[in-house]
Amino acid sequence: MRDDLLVHDFIAVAEEMVRVRIRSGREDRPGYISMPAHEIEPLMELQSLIGHMLLQGKRANDLCACGSGNKYKRCHGKILGK
Ligand SMILES: [Zn+2]
Repeated sequence: MRDDLLVHDFIAVAEEMVRVRIRSGREDRPGYISMPAHEIEPLMELQSLIGHMLLQGKRANDLCACGSGNKYKRCHGKILGK
């Protein structure tokens, strides 16, 4: 696995989604999950953006896939905040 901000972020997003999912589990209806859209949607968006860049062999220093014209690390790379 590459030691790269993109890879790190991809894993961090996956972990965060698991956290939201666990927190959203409902005890009154086992197996039923109601995830708050405002929490899960930005994560799904970020995950797909990072996955896209990884498949293209991009690095954090390359332009962000969102089309902002900024490098990933100066754009969506700042969302997770480290
Ligand atoms: Zn971006």
